[in-house]
Amino acid sequence: MIKKYKLFINNKWVDAENGESFISNNPANGKPLAELALADKKDVDKAVAAARSASKDWSKTDGDYRAELMMRALGIMKKRHKELTHWEAEDTGKPISETMDVDIPYACRAMEYFSNLARQIRGSVIPLPGDDALCYETWEPYGVVGSIIPWNFPLHIATRTICPAISTGNTVILKASSQAPISCTLLGEIFLEAGYPPGVLNILSGSGSITGESMLVHPDIDLISFTGSTKIGRRCLKASAESNLKKVLLELGGKGPFIAEADCRLDQAVNSLIVGFCFMQGEVCCASTRAYIHSDIYDEFVDKLIRRCNGIKMGDIMDPSTQLGSLIDENQLNTVDGYVSRAVSDGANLLCGGERYTIPPCDKGFFYKPTVLEIKDNSLECVQEEIFGPVCTVMKYDCLEEALMLANDSVYGLGATIWSEDSRNLYKASKSFNAGIIWMNTNVMSKIEASYGGNKMSGVGREGGVVGIMEYLKCKNNVHYIGPEDNYYKFEN
Ligand code: NAP
Repeated sequence: MIKKYKLFINNKWVDAENGESFISNNPANGKPLAELALADKKDVDKAVAAARSASKDWSKTDGDYRAELMMRALGIMKKRHKELTHWEAEDTGKPISETMDVDIPYACRAMEYFSNLARQIRGSVIPLPGDDALCYETWEPYGVVGSIIPWNFPLHIATRTICPAISTGNTVILKASSQAPISCTLLGEIFLEAGYPPGVLNILSGSGSITGESMLVHPDIDLISFTGSTKIGRRCLKASAESNLKKVLLELGGKGPFIAEADCRLDQAVNSLIVGFCFMQGEVCCASTRAYIHSDIYDEFVDKLIRRCNGIKMGDIMDPSTQLGSLIDENQLNTVDGYVSRAVSDGANLLCGGERYTIPPCDKGFFYKPTVLEIKDNSLECVQEEIFGPVCTVMKYDCLEEALMLANDSVYGLGATIWSEDSRNLYKASKSFNAGIIWMNTNVMSKIEASYGGNKMSGVGREGGVVGIMEYLKCKNNVHYIGPEDNYYKFEN
């Protein structure tokens, strides 16, 4: 018997109005994990009504109270970390070592960090010319926030959005991806036990096309925080324009460039590139998937890269020594394989990988070997489009200016990486990259304490850090006249 989960609305576990449900499977072995209620428009309406009603009181609570509740939720989360670590691995197909080291600790840290940070938010007094008005700016919650997230880091991304939103006095409707919804559903149990009032957090499992879409067009949601593909990001903006002009935060796709200068520490750089495109099977928005290697070190770099890639351990995702897990589903496997086949037809040289990995127990999942494609043309589809699998292109360059030009030749602008021992070159690169996050002599390192987000078609706005929390607050300008009574602006007549 698999577990059954309902929708979490107004602190109650309820069936979907239409009575429908769906099954979430473990992509690494195809086993069904849980049955979840499938929300539709009516359930979205119910959740929004609950969130709106709760918003009246919740927006007026003080930061200490909100932080106290979040810290209680954190305590429960920590007690349940083992169970959450397992669910997150099984529902996404990623190795348990990643959920243990990244997903659950990051989610816990988001709860702690944002609940404390929210208490420190303050307005400002604006000096005006003359002495007759006190002008001050204050920050207020938007009201009802809709959070729509993808399947690659469910709890991490959920907490990155709902913790700043709730800590600053907003109420939330969270929709996890129907491909990995379990850990987010468990957040309902955690928030309920922590003592949150009804309606502050509502959690809906359901499809993007119905549940997600109903949120996007809902006239009573004030802000949508969306993390996912650029395609649906566009839809979010359009739906906002067509409904109530709700604020839209977008964390979208990427195609991260990676530059290795001739003077870089080669072994470390190779290692960081592998982390960049193999962590989470390459299903990471900020993955380093376009490597530009200086011609002086190209052969040695690529040789080491291929040897290391061929040694990456794939296998049972619950084995802590497994390094690469399963892609999320068969569709994604076919998408990745299709990109690689077309790249080879387009003239790319396949240096390693390029096929499904089927040695048991991986034969029941959607495992794909780490793949490196050598290219000479930056305009190829495999260089320009997000593949979302463990696939990286490598290309030779002769001078840093050329590498930076190639790196910026993309519609995306999320993460960008450079390895060099020359601090002037690092500085030059960090100024030149058109991206939201720059890594110098490290890679794909992101902390909840700093901003995260992209330029160009990688997104709008930022999550994380002080910049991220402020996205969930709107500024109010208060002008208080304190001058003499006969000195108002007035029409002379
Ligand atoms: P996706 O297809 O855009 O889905 C993301 C979320 O949107 C899911 O919850 C999905 O629901 C929902 N959705 C789908 N269609 C919708 C619609 N018409 N209206 C409202 N919601 C809708 O993306 P994905 O395949 O899950 O995730 C991979 C993408 O996310 C990649 O492009 C990756 O780069 C990006 N990503 C970005 C970041 C970042 O921080 N920048 C982080 C992680 C991932 P269902 O899944 O239930 O259909």
